[in-house]
Amino acid sequence: MSFQVFGIPVSRGVAIGRAVLVASSRVDVAHYFIDEAHVPGEIKRALRARDEVARELESLKEDMPEDAPHELAALLDVHLMLLHDEALLGATRQWIVERHYNAEWALSAQLEVLARQFDEMEDDYLRERKADLEQVVERLLGAMAAELGKGQVGAAQVVQRDFAGEDPLLLVAADIAPADMMQFKRSVFHGFITDIGGKTSHTAIVARSMDIPAVVGTREASRLIRQDDWVIIDGDSGVVIVNPSPIVLEEYRFRQRQSELERARLARLRHTPAVTLDGERIELHANIELPADAVSAVEAGATGVGLFRSEFLFMNRGGELPTEEEQFQAYKAAVEAMKGMPVTIRTVDVGADKPLDRMSANELRHEHVLNPAMGLRAIRWSLAEPSMFRQQLRAIYRASAFGKIRLLIPMVAHLSEIRQILETLRRVKQQLDDAGQPYTHVDLGVMIEIPAAAVMLPLLLPHVDFVSIGTNDLIQYTLAIDRADEAVAHLYDPWHPAVLQLIASSIAQARAAGKSVSVCGEMAGDAAFTDLLLCMGLRSFSMHPSQIPSVKQRILRADSQKLKLALPAILASEDPEKTASLAFAATSQRLH
Ligand code: PEP
Ligand code: MG
Repeated sequence: MSFQVFGIPVSRGVAIGRAVLVASSRVDVAHYFIDEAHVPGEIKRALRARDEVARELESLKEDMPEDAPHELAALLDVHLMLLHDEALLGATRQWIVERHYNAEWALSAQLEVLARQFDEMEDDYLRERKADLEQVVERLLGAMAAELGKGQVGAAQVVQRDFAGEDPLLLVAADIAPADMMQFKRSVFHGFITDIGGKTSHTAIVARSMDIPAVVGTREASRLIRQDDWVIIDGDSGVVIVNPSPIVLEEYRFRQRQSELERARLARLRHTPAVTLDGERIELHANIELPADAVSAVEAGATGVGLFRSEFLFMNRGGELPTEEEQFQAYKAAVEAMKGMPVTIRTVDVGADKPLDRMSANELRHEHVLNPAMGLRAIRWSLAEPSMFRQQLRAIYRASAFGKIRLLIPMVAHLSEIRQILETLRRVKQQLDDAGQPYTHVDLGVMIEIPAAAVMLPLLLPHVDFVSIGTNDLIQYTLAIDRADEAVAHLYDPWHPAVLQLIASSIAQARAAGKSVSVCGEMAGDAAFTDLLLCMGLRSFSMHPSQIPSVKQRILRADSQKLKLALPAILASEDPEKTASLAFAATSQRLH
């Protein structure tokens, strides 16, 4: 049966493929593809885990005190029966062989299939056995993790298999943490659907950086869609079509081809300098998460990196922090890949919807932190962990010997934080001098993403070389709207007059003080806001590499002098979006 699910479109385009469901409670197990050579090893891991759990359960049975209720022994028997049922491990083996999932992923995929079957059972007793099945799977996953922990078996290699000729796969999950999303980067997934999330949640940002269609905030997609269902993701409108009819499928295939042609057309702008009709040169920088992304930044025609979200180097490490040397190598790699163009490295911005590791994700979600978006995140965390912070700064400074680096500090709200940062930098440079480590001058910048920073900008500016406006958080904190919460996503409004006032005044004040200012939030990469930002006087944008061509096209057709005239009316308007659209239409000199 064909049906539709509606959500928030976060990454453009059309994707058509088969659904891969990842259970939300198990989304934090490793999900990666293995190559052919690792298939037998992965199956053996699953079987060893089964044997280990069987031993555990048998010994629990044997050690059961005589007066233990007999239901307990019966329960262990049920668990043993489920463990040995071919429907669990036999089918898990199929996922490994046919799809090349790693063992943990294969097991949770199969759990997902069986859980659905249990949910549909009429008989209450049988339906309740789903909880037992989940417990057995938890034990199996635990056994696999323990084996890896003992270092007996190395995790199979993450590989980029060539899936040419196979059905495209679309990932469906209740939620995907940004850290898990990173695992899927450059994977074979052609699209993403999640139940929760907002337009600028970090999961959406990573999906956008992967440049594949994605819809978040569907609330129930992961409950309604089944493994292997055929699904269309319309990343432009936020519609997900499950088991489409042949006519609908054909229509979307046509749209898919159209958008590929459009991309190919825009890609030709790669070497065209971003200059407005009235001759203003605009800087188009890239946002990256990992050093390897610098390659796509250069390919897309970026003239620098405006935001390297360094926190992604800190994720998927089981809670361990990267060493100074590891970080140095990563920053150096990014700088070298940018071939002399500037690289803006933002110090670690963990917390809120970007927890450091899985344990802290749970801690943050549960009892320990009431309001993580307002808690110990970003620079607050760095200043609370001085040796970690110094280590990161040393690594960044050391990499400055290999190319132009700019240092960007997230979530600054207090002058005292800037003073502490300057003092830490003095110490770090002293340490490098003492060790004879070379480094060069590094510009210091702060992110304007808390309204307090925007309001007190004249006081911050004398202490820094540049500022970068993080509109994602600025909107979140100005409007008190959790950027990752789909329930309030309709109120997350970049066109809100208060947001526009803060962005416009930050740009104007920085420019008046002769300091460079850019926008690195998602507004910078959305061509719907290009005219607006140009009209506010912005001359430096930072965005996902894939967004550069469409923003550049907009810039090439804009006249910044004419746009500027519209600013007072937009800022005074009760409906700025409408005012802007009328004013820009009247002043524009669009080529087409
Ligand atoms: C922002 O807040 O706009 C920003 C660029 O930082 P992040 O999205 O990583 O919070
Ligand atoms: Mg931010």
